[in-house]
Amino acid sequence: MKRVYNFSAGPACLPEEVLLKAAEEMVNYNNSGMGVMEMSHRGKEFKNIIGSAEADLREIMNIPVNYKVLFLQGGASLQFAMVPLNLMIKNKKADYVHTGQWTKKAIAEAKKSGTVNIVASSEEDKFTRIPPLDPGMFSRDADYFYIATNNTIYGTRYADIPDTGDIPLVADMSSNILSETIDVAKFGIIFAGAQKNIGPAGVTIVIIREDLIGLADGSIPTMLDYRTHADNASMFNTPPCYSIYMAGLVFKWIKNKGGIPVVEEVNRKKADILYKYLDNSGLFRSPVEKESRSLMNVPFVTGKDDLDAKFIEEAGKAGLETLKGHRTVGGMRASIYNAMPIEGVKALVAFMEKFEKENG
Ligand code: PMP
Repeated sequence: MKRVYNFSAGPACLPEEVLLKAAEEMVNYNNSGMGVMEMSHRGKEFKNIIGSAEADLREIMNIPVNYKVLFLQGGASLQFAMVPLNLMIKNKKADYVHTGQWTKKAIAEAKKSGTVNIVASSEEDKFTRIPPLDPGMFSRDADYFYIATNNTIYGTRYADIPDTGDIPLVADMSSNILSETIDVAKFGIIFAGAQKNIGPAGVTIVIIREDLIGLADGSIPTMLDYRTHADNASMFNTPPCYSIYMAGLVFKWIKNKGGIPVVEEVNRKKADILYKYLDNSGLFRSPVEKESRSLMNVPFVTGKDDLDAKFIEEAGKAGLETLKGHRTVGGMRASIYNAMPIEGVKALVAFMEKFEKENG
């Protein structure tokens, strides 16, 4: 079986062990005579699957008891709307830090529910850094404070999580959840689409502090109310059963590795190898400010479009796939999520060295 090193930003590579386990159980899960895709979500087997997935996630992220874990649909994009619909209630006002296209979309949705205060933006720097945050600029009467902890397209990440005091901090963690240890108690809501570090697309995980559930009145659509999903253990309607099953396998894989601290250590090594090479290369460079560099998404450029295109093509032939940068920024991007083995990063750097010798 030939597999490539897949540097896709999402849907992204999954741990091979997880895929093999899913293949083994595809047509007959746990001797039930059925596959997970064919089962009733109300049956005993699936209740165990979703129950273990939640328990394992709680364990690896050390989620406090006063937080609910919800398995929703609609992607991270639906959370751009659900957050303001559920939280912009008291003062109809929220603080946002603008760090790229995903916060732009979140801000546009929030503006439909109330006043958005842009606390800081890195737009002038083409989003190549996380802007410095001055707590003096935070609104005292915001219903919440919003950040995207990792910006998939630009490869930036918050090295420090802002302290927002009593104001609930809401985080889009789609592209770096489970990649490093975080203190869940610092957040009011954490949400993430699955297709990077969790599993296949289709499920969106929302970790929400209980006091933030049920603030909206009955006028918002039932399916968009966190209370609906919290009261029904994510089973108000048919959940994305197979994606939840796969996410559960990924959580077990992380547990078996020794948990998030172990995964984080490997992630730091992987990122280090790549950034060290980039900082010493005469051909490639990272456009991202050092303090803001992501451990998950690493954009790089040669500065010449034709050379970038040649690199992407030749890398593909060498089994290093999906290295093209986001269509809006160009260049290259290597996404090195949890499931990318360190060998994949070493193979990439070896290929870059060779390419540099031949084309530098
Ligand atoms: N936020 C971030 C940080 C993302 O990277 C993405 C998707 N790449 C989204 C939100 C949107 O996610 P979805 O496609 O699941 O709606």
